[in-house]
Amino acid sequence: MARYLDGKCRQCRREGIRLYLKGDRCYTDKCAIERRAYAPGEHGKDRRSKLTPYGQQLREKQKARRIYGVLEQQFRNYFSKAERKKGITGENLLMLLETRLDNVVYRLGIAPSRNAARQVVRHGHISVNGRRVDIPSFALRVNDTVAVVDASKGIQAIKDCVANRRRTEMQTWLDFDERNFIGRVLKMPNREEIPVPVQEQLIVELYSK
Ligand code: SF4
Repeated sequence: MARYLDGKCRQCRREGIRLYLKGDRCYTDKCAIERRAYAPGEHGKDRRSKLTPYGQQLREKQKARRIYGVLEQQFRNYFSKAERKKGITGENLLMLLETRLDNVVYRLGIAPSRNAARQVVRHGHISVNGRRVDIPSFALRVNDTVAVVDASKGIQAIKDCVANRRRTEMQTWLDFDERNFIGRVLKMPNREEIPVPVQEQLIVELYSK
């Protein structure tokens, strides 16, 4: 599985906002955005702050990719799929990204970050509708259940994470039974239910050139 391997804090500094890629550390004053609030690289401090329209569009696309940990080609595939769906393309795009299995595992509070959630899925700790699924990009649908498999319910890192779920603020489109480690997709999320700081319209403009 291809992954983007650039430093996580570096990605946040490039976008100029917290992308919450590291879990607990992101909620402390050790966050690199607090300590070095400028773009990475030799000229990071003297970069022009005024972006061209193209630059703004590019930054929004990169931000969305980095938040969800998706590589360029896969992101384009999501965009093509979003275009073919009924409705507003930008919102469709975010909905497709939001309903990825790794994101839902993160939103349910089973893992502290999307990266950690991806690993939890890859290592076979998650089942969907009772069957083990180890594909982080697996697309969930309404009424799908997402659960920690029985053999993994005793893993301390998962138990601690579920016990301390405040960080991911329960989503209204998801339900979670904390005692049994079972979540359910109640509905597809709409834009108001997707708390990511992305102007999706700019991504649509970028890909529509
Ligand atoms: Fe981003 Fe988290 Fe690093 Fe802060 S600690 S810069 S939010 S990855």
